Amino acid sequence: MHTITLIPGDGIGPEITRAVQDIFAAAQVPVQWEEQNAGQTTFDQSGELLPQALFDSLEKNRVALKGPITTPVGKGFRSINVSLRQKYDLYQNLRPAKTTEGISSRYSGIDIVLFRENTEGLYAGLELWDEHHGIGDSIARVSVAGARKICRAAFAYAAKHGRKKVTLAHKANILKVPGKIMLDAAAEAAREFPQIQYEDKIIDNMCMQLVTKPEQFDVIVTTNLFGDILSDLCAGLVGGLGVVSGANIGDDMAIFEAVHGSAPDIAGKGIANPTALLRSALLMLEHLGEKEAATRIENALNETLRHKEQCTGDLGGAASTQQFAQNVINNL
Ligand code: NAD
Repeated sequence: MHTITLIPGDGIGPEITRAVQDIFAAAQVPVQWEEQNAGQTTFDQSGELLPQALFDSLEKNRVALKGPITTPVGKGFRSINVSLRQKYDLYQNLRPAKTTEGISSRYSGIDIVLFRENTEGLYAGLELWDEHHGIGDSIARVSVAGARKICRAAFAYAAKHGRKKVTLAHKANILKVPGKIMLDAAAEAAREFPQIQYEDKIIDNMCMQLVTKPEQFDVIVTTNLFGDILSDLCAGLVGGLGVVSGANIGDDMAIFEAVHGSAPDIAGKGIANPTALLRSALLMLEHLGEKEAATRIENALNETLRHKEQCTGDLGGAASTQQFAQNVINNL
């Protein structure tokens, strides 16, 4: 039995986490949930955005499933995601994007897994404002240690999951220092995993290739900003942010979450699509070594997605969140 920290979040978060819990219970997945919230919900109750009880639970269980959390604009409210990533060195942002029958897209045959470095690069928080000269700087920090960790993680994932190729996306022709660090780190990882084909591509060419011939890509690894952009581009190739999963992974902790936000426009209406969070929960099951349960639920989800009438409104159906969950359960 695995104990998972469950962070329901706010907005549609509680509705879609409940759907995932119901599906897991029906599939008799060996997990138990320890609920600890964060964000506005806990702030309103106790004045804490990130309660100590959540940290304690994460540090004990080391695996969490997280619903979206609203980040109010301009209230000095730091992103909960960024805070957790930095506190626990969750340096890998894993973003799979796979074509699914029933989810409309201009493309077919896509099965890409993107590894975005999650703690450094232009998001390292090294910003300077020189008021005297009117100059703003943002430093793109790439450390040798950080580059080695993310590149090795991408190759290790490829080897473990029977993938064939890793592509490094970079801009080493212009950003020579961080680019060379990434190229060296990827070449080093490629030597460690000789069974995996390795190539590198300059980011601008990479973007063009992703929209013209995306089927050629398998596993992609890149720095924080490029990864932020490419991961949404890849989501767009397979039906958008509403259906893709994500995970923030470190050496000894992992937090799985949907990529979309708290959708305040539809919160409380019972119509949100739980697919993205469910897929993130399936990544979590794989991470826990529960591959069989993950495959069984994934098959039931895919069967549901093939029938528009069984889906929620965003996918062209009319099912409520709960009905959608029940349809997945019926397809188990
Ligand atoms: P959003 O993803 O919440 O919503 C964008 C659009 O997609 C909306 O029309 C929404 O109704 C729709 N949508 C999103 N998820 C859906 C689902 N599961 N089913 C059906 N429709 C869905 O983006 P936003 O409006 O820019 O952000 C709202 C809030 O969420 C903001 O406060 C933002 O900071 C926060 N946010 C949190 C996370 C996170 O916690 N991981 C991620 C992104 C945004």
